[in-house]
Parts: sequence; C-alpha cells; structure tokens
Amino acid sequence: MDRPVRSLKDELHSNEKIAIPDQLGCALESEKSCCNGVGYRLQANGSLTQAVLCSCVRDCQSCFGQNRRMINGGSKPCRTPAPSRVASLINAACLPARYSSAKLDSFTNFTGNGRDVVQRLSTWMREFDIEQPKGLILGGPVGVGKTYLLAAIAKNFANKGISIRFIDFFQLLLELKSGYAQDKNDSNVLKEAIESDVLFIDELGKGRNTDWELSILDQLVMGRYNRNKVIVASTNYDFKPSDRVNLGFNNNLDERRGSTFELDRFESLEQRIGARIYSRLVETSDLIEVTGEDYRKRNLQEKLSSGPKPRR
Ligand SMILES: [Zn+2]
Ligand SMILES: [Zn+2]
Repeated sequence: MDRPVRSLKDELHSNEKIAIPDQLGCALESEKSCCNGVGYRLQANGSLTQAVLCSCVRDCQSCFGQNRRMINGGSKPCRTPAPSRVASLINAACLPARYSSAKLDSFTNFTGNGRDVVQRLSTWMREFDIEQPKGLILGGPVGVGKTYLLAAIAKNFANKGISIRFIDFFQLLLELKSGYAQDKNDSNVLKEAIESDVLFIDELGKGRNTDWELSILDQLVMGRYNRNKVIVASTNYDFKPSDRVNLGFNNNLDERRGSTFELDRFESLEQRIGARIYSRLVETSDLIEVTGEDYRKRNLQEKLSSGPKPRR
C-alpha cells in the first residue's frame, strides 16, 4: 500500500515512527544474548573486574553507541544510566575478578539461610535511598558466600548509576603501606574510598588492628558518616555483642558456626574495631547474618567422595 506523501511539517508532528533510527530501535531494546541486554561485558583484568562496552551497543545502527536517539523530534537517551556510564562505575570500583559474575539470584547456599538472605537483600536494595541511605553488614563464618553477595550488590548499585568502591580492608592497608614506602600520599586512596556513593568493605575487622590500622578505619567510617554516606561490609566476626554473653562451649556451637573452629571467631566485631567505630556502623546499618557450611570445604568433600566409583 502506498503511503501518502507527507511534508516535513507533517513528519515533525506525526506520532508515527518514521525516522529510520526509531524504526530500528536501539540494540539495548532487544536484550541481546551477547550481554543479556545490559550493554557491557565483564572480564578479568588481573585480579580486578573490567567492564567493556558490548559490541551490540558499539555497533548499534540506531544510536551508534552514543546511547542517544532522536525520538519525537527530541534527543533522548536510549537508557539511563548509559551502559558506558555503568561500565566506568564498575571499572572505578575495583571489584575482585573472581566475583565478576556474581548475581543475587544465582546465589546458592544450600546448607544455610541463603534463600532468606537473598530475599532480605533484594528488599534492602529496593528500599535503598541515596538521599537517606542505610548501610549493611553481612556477618557469618568463612566460606558462606559473603564476598559473593557484596559483589552482587555492588554491581546492582553500578547498574543504577550509583558510584561504588570495593575494598578488601587488608589489601587497602597493604596499599597504604606500600604508598608510604614510596613516599606517596595516602590521601588519594582514602579520598576515593570516602567519596564514593557506597563503600564496600570485605573482611571488616580482619588484620592486627593496630592503632594505625584502626585510625585508617576510623577515617573511613567517620569520613563517610559525616558526609551521610554508608558502608556495606562483610565480617567474620560476631556483630552482636550480646552473643558474647551466650557463647559458651555448648552443644550447638558447631551447628551455629559450621565446623570451623577458630578462636578469634569468638571475638565480636565490636572488640575488633572498637566501640566508637562499631557504634557508628551499627547506627547506620542493617545487620544480616549468613549461615551455612564453608563452600570451600564442601567442594573438597565432594571431590573426595566422587572418586572413580561408578555413578548411581
Ligand atoms: Zn543504540
Ligand atoms: Zn551486547
């Protein structure tokens, strides 16, 4: 059927999709399998996660990777935040490469309360308000997936355009120390950590907790507290001081903590990081305990038991 010839004026006032770019639609609209529709891809760059713009966006015949198109006579973003923006947030975050594929809904912790934790975390993220942010501390023994969960949450924030910085506290201390050795100022490393929208600290409380180490943690926690910015952390230490009272060498000890028996596990987070830092963190954070078996040990068990015997 022939289309009636329309003037430019008609075109501009028409609601019909005429312009070729609009007809094609941005590559992001069709959730391509190359990147599951997010527009960027993650890869390892040494020990860190690197995000690169996916070729489907780069080669998009509609926006040519610019993430902007003419829609109804006006220039509009194809997606907010733009995939290139999300990629740069991820690249600035220093996410560990090991957890680059972490996703909340693919978290499996069959032996513990994983299902419940994932649900609570989804709610926590949904309710997260950057204007009045609430922090989070994930507690629980070694190997139940806390770092995985932190990385999944961090990526989720980046997808929303929220800037993140991920630090292993132990690693941060090493970086600062090597900075001192090279006469470098530590203010940049700390500044980045203090100023990101959300700071992720893995293994809070680990280390020797010398006065210097605690003063660094104090700068981070107080610096962020004063800027109304929060911390999302994981810790192997008990974040409930009251637990210390109940802790004895009783029967259900193994059950509660898995079979890992580490003496310093019985120290509370408050003891590890000091009352002042602890109370600031708890005041601004939700606390979630993750339970379960150490997955590294479980994997080892499975390997040991799946020898050359025939499969049933
Ligand atoms: Zn496009
Ligand atoms: Zn793609």
